[in-house]
Amino acid sequence: VVELRQLRKSFGDLEVLKGIDLAVRPGEHVVLFGPSGSGKSTVLRSINLLEPPTSGSLRFDGVEYGPGIPGEPQAAERGRPIDLRRNIGMVFQQFNLFPHLTALENVALPLRSVRGCKRPQAEHQAAEALRRVGLLERAAHYPRQLSGGQQQRVAIARALALDPQVMLFDEPTSALDPELVGGVLATMRELAETGMTMLIVTHELGFAREIGDLNVFMEDGQVVETGDREIYAGPTNPRTSAFLSAVL
Ligand code: ATP
Ligand code: MG
Repeated sequence: VVELRQLRKSFGDLEVLKGIDLAVRPGEHVVLFGPSGSGKSTVLRSINLLEPPTSGSLRFDGVEYGPGIPGEPQAAERGRPIDLRRNIGMVFQQFNLFPHLTALENVALPLRSVRGCKRPQAEHQAAEALRRVGLLERAAHYPRQLSGGQQQRVAIARALALDPQVMLFDEPTSALDPELVGGVLATMRELAETGMTMLIVTHELGFAREIGDLNVFMEDGQVVETGDREIYAGPTNPRTSAFLSAVL
């Protein structure tokens, strides 16, 4: 679904992505992990062009959205960012729900504003998305009446309701109290079991190990090592080992 090749991103003189190669295949669950500042969020933000790449190839569903790889012929056509974004759901550390809207209204809002659905249709689809995250019975609650974990599940429903081809998660549990993390991970696990394509940045390495078909260790703007779940128990690169022994 998503393919990055030689993707680079600089902020002024600072190069934060130094040629990332990464592929996320349909139905696959890819975990991105690594130290703070290694560029994980920038990779996710590049994929939906919140941060336009400086150079390199970004393909989504076979369509080129990146500026291109130096030395390679330019793609004949480049896709429009809007077509990319409508197929990507994103969940952040901060859930950013509107406090004055109920859970149902929060989920329905982008269906109306982005997709142009009429209210009854939007609310029908929003209810279905809330059901998928196990919160249908909280549809009429306001964010302040929900726990942080429930609010994050509403944010997941809001992304799901738009029926994306792939879901990107950037440390979805980092802002939560420890006792609330499990519920959000359970929701993500269920979503994974439905076959949703997912790219997840997380520090929850137990969860990563369980869910990650492909696990990517990043450091200093580069992919250092990729592997299956064995990467956590027996990394081959000494930098991966050093990171894992520091955090586990
Ligand atoms: P964390 O685990 O702390 O979230 P990360 O791996 O997600 O870290 P990024 O947020 O991608 O790291 O940041 C990578 C580097 O890019 C950091 O050095 C950061 O300071 C820098 N950076 C990110 N966004 C910007 C920006 N808008 N302008 C300038 N520098 C930025
Ligand atoms: Mg980050």
